Amino acid sequence: MASFTILTLGCRANRADSEALSRLLQGAGWRLNPVGQGAEVGIVNTCTVTAEADRKARQMVRRLLKSCQLVVVTGCGAAPKGGLAQSVAQWERVILLPPRERERILEYLPKPLRLSPPIPAPKTRARALLKVQEGCNHMCTFCIVPLVRGPLRSWKGEELLPQVERLQGEGYREIVLTGTHLALWGRDSASKLEARAKGREAPNFAQLVEYLIKHTQDVRYRVSSIEPMAFPRPLLELMAAYPERLCPHLHLVLQHASDKILRAMGRDYTLAQYDSLVGEFLERVPGGVLTTDILLGFPGEEESDLEILEDYLRRRPFYHLHVFPYSPRPGTVASTLPQQVPEALKRERVGRVIALGEECSHKVYDSFVGTERPILVERLSANDPQRVVGTADNFLTVEIPGSSSDLGRMVTRTIPRRLL
Ligand code: SF4
Repeated sequence: MASFTILTLGCRANRADSEALSRLLQGAGWRLNPVGQGAEVGIVNTCTVTAEADRKARQMVRRLLKSCQLVVVTGCGAAPKGGLAQSVAQWERVILLPPRERERILEYLPKPLRLSPPIPAPKTRARALLKVQEGCNHMCTFCIVPLVRGPLRSWKGEELLPQVERLQGEGYREIVLTGTHLALWGRDSASKLEARAKGREAPNFAQLVEYLIKHTQDVRYRVSSIEPMAFPRPLLELMAAYPERLCPHLHLVLQHASDKILRAMGRDYTLAQYDSLVGEFLERVPGGVLTTDILLGFPGEEESDLEILEDYLRRRPFYHLHVFPYSPRPGTVASTLPQQVPEALKRERVGRVIALGEECSHKVYDSFVGTERPILVERLSANDPQRVVGTADNFLTVEIPGSSSDLGRMVTRTIPRRLL
C-alpha cells in the first residue's frame, strides 16, 4: 500500500505546509505512517535559516533513505541555489521539490496502486495551524527566506473560512494563524489591486482576524509569530475586545535589542519602537503574555550589545525566548560582512541568553499562579496518570488534574504552581 512519512524542521509556517502536504497526499490515496514505522516515500520539509538546520536536514534525509524507496526534500532548503539543495541533489533516490512547487508534489511521485483506507483521526486534536500568508519582501540582511519563498501571497477570509470549518469538523478547538511575515497579509499586489479597483485601502491582517472571528463560532484563534515591521496595531484592540476568541499572546519577533545590530540586520525598527508596541500590548491586553525570537552572534556583535539585550530581557516579561545562533547563509548581505563572531563565542552567548530566558519564563509563569484561565488540554502528563498538560489562552503550558477524557477539551482552571 502506498505510504509516506514526513519530517519537518523550522517554523510554524513549515509545519502548516507539512500538514497541507499530508492532506494532499492522503486525499490522493497515500497513507501517512508515523515516523519510524517505514514508508515507501519519505518527505523532509526543510528550513535553511541556519547551517545547523541544513545539517539536521541532511541527517533526516540520510535517515529516511534507510527505510524509504524515495525521499522528497522540500521547504526553504530545497530552493535550487541553496547549499542543501546542491548537496542532496547528487544523492540517489532523492527528489528536490522547491518550495514554490510544493503543491505539485503528486506529479513528482509514482501513482499509488491501491487507495488506502481513510486514516483514523488521531485521538487528540487540539491546535491546528492555518497558513494565511506566504512570502516576504523585507530582505533582512541575514535571511534567505525572501529569495526562496517566492512573492507575497495572502489568502482572503472567504477562502479561509471553509478550511476553518473543516478543521473545526475534525475537532480542533484552536487555530493558529501562520505566515512567513503575517504583518504583510493584504500587502501583496493582487490584494492591493483588488482594493484599489473597489476604491478602498489595502486590507490589513487585523481585518482578516476580525473577519474570521465574526464569521465563525466555538473556536479560538492564536496569532503565530509576527514581525514588528508593519505591525497592525488594531490587532491589540481585537485581543482586548475578544478575549475568548483571540488568544492574549503576542510572539513579537525581536531578534536583538541593540540598535546597532538591528540596523545591521536591516530590521527597520529601534528598540524604543519595539518596546512601545510591547508596552501597548501589556497595557491594553489583560493577562497578555509575550514571547519572542532572538538571533545571537550577528557580525559585529560585541559584549556591550549582549548586555543591552540582557538588560532589556530583564525589563520586560518574556515567557519564552526562541534563541538561535546566527550562521552565514550564502547569497545574503550579512554573510559578506566583516567581524563574523567566532562559533565558540556564539555558543557561549546562546547558552547565556537561554539561561536568562528560563529565569524570565519562571517569573512570568509564577505571576499567573492562582488566576483562572481557559486551558486547551493536549496530552496526558508523562509523570502522573491523574494529570494532563494543556496550553492556556495566554500560552502558559500548565499541568492540571485530569484524565484522557479531557483530551481536546477546553477547560477553565486555576493555574497551579509550576510542575513542568
Ligand atoms: S521579515 Fe526578515 S527574517 Fe522574517 S522572513 Fe522576512 S526577511 Fe526573513
